[in-house]
Amino acid sequence: MDWLTNLFWPGGKFLGIEWHPWKVVGWTGNLIFFSRFFVQWWATERRGRVVVPVTFWWLSLLGSGLLLSYALFRRDSVFIFAYAFTWIPYIRNLVIHRRHAQAHTDCSQCGTTCPPQARFCHACGSPLKPPTRPGATAAG
Ligand SMILES: [Zn+2]
Repeated sequence: MDWLTNLFWPGGKFLGIEWHPWKVVGWTGNLIFFSRFFVQWWATERRGRVVVPVTFWWLSLLGSGLLLSYALFRRDSVFIFAYAFTWIPYIRNLVIHRRHAQAHTDCSQCGTTCPPQARFCHACGSPLKPPTRPGATAAG
């Protein structure tokens, strides 16, 4: 089992890394940022076409935010620049995702999410009510 210790705990340090709280922040950011590829890959395999799920953008935003804070702590200009502006497309994609989701209508009969402008549910054929806009009252 010495080889295991040498692999994960070389020099008495976990993975040979000199750990401190900011290293935990940076590595957490790395893991979250890296995990988004598996989320996107899984969604694409499941649908059989290229899909970017909303979780991908949340993981991108959270992971890059942690990496940016680590880069700011390190005062590394190259690393800071790499993550300073990536939040802009992430937030933009989250906004577009939200608008798109709000434009869709859930069927009151079967709960199926139907496309914008649909007048009848494609699953059960029930007539659909127009989507409620943010700020509009439910009672109408
Ligand atoms: Zn329906």
